[in-house]
Amino acid sequence: MSRPAKTRVPKIGFVSLGCPKALVDSERILTRLRAEGYEVSPTYDAADVVVVNTCGFIDAAVDESLDAIGEAIEQNGRVIVTGCLGARPERILERHPRVLKVTGPHAYEEVVGAVHEHLPPLHDPFSDLVPPQGVRLTPRHYAYLKISEGCNNKCTFCIIPDMRGRLVSRRIDEVLREGERLVKAGVKELLVISQDTSAYGADIKYAAASWRDESYQTRFIDLARGLGSLGAWVRLHYVYPYPHVDEVIPLMAERRVLPYLDIPFQHGSPSVLKRMRRPAHGQDTLARIQRWRKECPELVLRSTFIVGFPGETEAEFEELLQWLDEAQLDRVGCFKYSPVEGAAANALPDHVAPEVQEERYARFMERAAAISAQRLSARVGRKMRVLVDAVEENTAIARSEADAPEIDGVVRIAKAGKLRVGDWAEVEITGADAYDLKARILPAQ
Ligand code: SF4
Repeated sequence: MSRPAKTRVPKIGFVSLGCPKALVDSERILTRLRAEGYEVSPTYDAADVVVVNTCGFIDAAVDESLDAIGEAIEQNGRVIVTGCLGARPERILERHPRVLKVTGPHAYEEVVGAVHEHLPPLHDPFSDLVPPQGVRLTPRHYAYLKISEGCNNKCTFCIIPDMRGRLVSRRIDEVLREGERLVKAGVKELLVISQDTSAYGADIKYAAASWRDESYQTRFIDLARGLGSLGAWVRLHYVYPYPHVDEVIPLMAERRVLPYLDIPFQHGSPSVLKRMRRPAHGQDTLARIQRWRKECPELVLRSTFIVGFPGETEAEFEELLQWLDEAQLDRVGCFKYSPVEGAAANALPDHVAPEVQEERYARFMERAAAISAQRLSARVGRKMRVLVDAVEENTAIARSEADAPEIDGVVRIAKAGKLRVGDWAEVEITGADAYDLKARILPAQ
């Protein structure tokens, strides 16, 4: 059989903004387009059409998205917009009336349909080869695994449920099969993401399914159990401190999944948490953290916080600092509250003045940095396994079990020698600062 003559391959430019969940959406769209014979262009110039996957979480992200759309229009002219900001097309069209099409978050079919309409695919089965793990935007050795879309919570500062809808979980067997495929394709670390990982499966009544001849339910603990059997690092993000989360701690102690929990606590004062309408706000989180650490002393906790939420008094802020001192979290991010168009918190009384927010932010960060530095210095002298993300000259930038990519610190290994991206390395920690560690490679046993 002779190979059909090939005309010019259609090329897509792609700009992916926002959180890891949006990144997974981008990967899905690109996987589908690649499977249909489109090529991905690294420059605006060479692209026939540019897709911009936007973020609309806070006003700063909206501005960044609108700027990115503007840049794509200026440089290329033919632009399709998707993602969270796409849920508010009027915002986009008002500033950029020339965009070809606007679609909302996780509207894969619609985006692909818009691409077909404006840049028809060229069917060539010989170029339709897509690697088994699909197209991924993360390095080959780690991958985000999205287990659900949407959210059933109603945090007052957030409009994600309005934009992305209510919780829709993927059935457990589908998720486990995807995890299996990724690990077979060389992925060494799976990062589980969603809006609320602890709520996984609630919408489909924890549907049962079988995988590798074993029965699993679509629920948090079975997810950890199944993924934990794949032999990769499994990192759990966006978990809330509900009682059922306790069940995963023994799996962490046995290293079936990484002893790492990303819990966006957002505050330590019960009254602020109530005003925020945070999931699990009634739980005694300090007692829970203490129990977890007793059961799994290696447990690393990362979290994010909001300071200067409407109505936050000095006493409530002090309560947060006190909470932080007691919780001794390993990794902490902090935002100054900023209103999001359409969020319920906008209507709350007593918004905190920007200079007070600034001052509280600085105090909070100082306290958090001191805790982080002290916890990291306790690791000096320890031996551990790390995963190499990059090699710059003769220094490898790696991560330990305690560090998620992009958001946590790194382990710098001088004299990296033969280490390559995606390698495991056994190292001894030789130094620490407030966020990162230094290490030396241990001689092979
Ligand atoms: S848990 Fe709260 S902050 Fe997170 S997506 Fe749901 S409503 Fe928004």
